[in-house]
Amino acid sequence: MSDPRYSVTGSNYALTAKQAELVELVEELGPAFAGRAARYDQEASFPFENYADLRKAGLLGLCVPEKFGGRGADLKTYSIVSATLGKYCGATALTFNMHACSTLWPGLLADDLEMTPEQRAEHEKHRELHFKRVVEDGAVYAQPFSEGSAAAAGKAPFGTLATKVDGGWVINGKKIFASLSGAADYYGVLCTEDKPDLSMKDTLYMAVPGKAPGLTVTGDWDPLGMRGTVSRTLLFKDLFVPDDAAMMPRGVYFQAASRWPHMFTTLSPTYMGIAIAAYEFTVKYLRGEVPGTPPVKRRMYPTKQIAVAEMFVKLEQTRALFLRMLEDARVDPPKDARLRAYATQYTIMENANDLCRLAIRTCGGQSMLKSLPLERLYRDSRCGALMLPWTAELCLDRLGRETLYEPGESDT
Ligand SMILES: Cc1cc2nc3c(=O)[nH]c(=O)nc-3n(C[C@H](O)[C@H](O)[C@H](O)COP(=O)(O)OP(=O)(O)OC[C@H]3O[C@@H](n4cnc5c(N)ncnc54)[C@H](O)[C@@H]3O)c2cc1C
Repeated sequence: MSDPRYSVTGSNYALTAKQAELVELVEELGPAFAGRAARYDQEASFPFENYADLRKAGLLGLCVPEKFGGRGADLKTYSIVSATLGKYCGATALTFNMHACSTLWPGLLADDLEMTPEQRAEHEKHRELHFKRVVEDGAVYAQPFSEGSAAAAGKAPFGTLATKVDGGWVINGKKIFASLSGAADYYGVLCTEDKPDLSMKDTLYMAVPGKAPGLTVTGDWDPLGMRGTVSRTLLFKDLFVPDDAAMMPRGVYFQAASRWPHMFTTLSPTYMGIAIAAYEFTVKYLRGEVPGTPPVKRRMYPTKQIAVAEMFVKLEQTRALFLRMLEDARVDPPKDARLRAYATQYTIMENANDLCRLAIRTCGGQSMLKSLPLERLYRDSRCGALMLPWTAELCLDRLGRETLYEPGESDT
């Protein structure tokens, strides 16, 4: 049993038997992941060994519905598991988000969305194929959406275009910041159906095989943080995919984005985990208990006690919103739940970095040496607020508008 002081939910939080089992499984894998994190960070290399462990533990199918052989985790279960992973290796948790959501969205989320009987039947056939790859073959999916335009912010059609041809689609375009680049077996690419008038309603979500002719991984990768995500650029040149590459029927991704807003909160659990790790490190460091450091105690200084108290308050505020948001997540949530989701995402992303900042200030110079995890946590935590479509800025943007205006209202 892991230490409840540093668990994601804390003690006395009602977990189902399945949730408790999954969390414990990740707690068992976690220390090995933490042990490898510095190397992936230093090399900016993908955590293949961690994925081998996740595959062996049956966790690649975490969000695959049970009827397709997976663990059937819903958004809440996924988020708690993901935050647990985030405590040990941010880059593994963040890339695992891309993979897990590639099964959560076409899985349990899609079950809540409207489809014609024909679309439902087609979706059932296609997703069976995707889930089989994950559960039986151990395939890993990535989620490259970003293009450097307003599209990933949800404000314009994607510039990557799919043209209908006999038996499938031909894809042309470019994705930037594609986590798992060169490592994924499939890339779940968002593109727009090529028509005279491009529309966000015609967004298509296509599984492109990692070895497909016409796919090139390009650009270098030497960023500040989250270095193990290996998020390079993908180019698609006349790349053919068959009809069954569709991970959602035409128009359904657009519906999901407007009716299931919590689908965009799934990046934040990684950073919830990082926040907990920064706090845990600080307590252990001040108690002289961090492995590999001399047993020097610093906890007797009042300034340290005040600082760690401030960190605890911030951590509990963040965690409380996180756990509350997980109760809200559903199709067509009421307005207050949608606003709380923006507020939660903003809070987690900003507070994770702030907790790391406080941790470094409090623990002092020796704590930020590369031999210890804190400086990596600090760099990784800086990336959370930049993740589209719900960056910290865009959460404020949406909150500012949606708190003051009801749908359809304007002042002109
Ligand atoms: C470690 C890491 C891993 C990533 N992995 C993935 C991945 O796997 N898949 C993926 O799709 N993306 C991924 N991203 C990309 C990420 O989601 C963003 O798309 C990327 O950081 C945007 O960078 P940019 O400089 O092009 O942003 P820009 O588009 O230039 O935006 C800069 C900022 O301006 C604001 N902004 C953007 N558009 C608008 C608008 N229309 N209105 C108002 N404000 C706006 C936002 O706050 C944004 O942060 C990753 C990013 C990082 C850092």
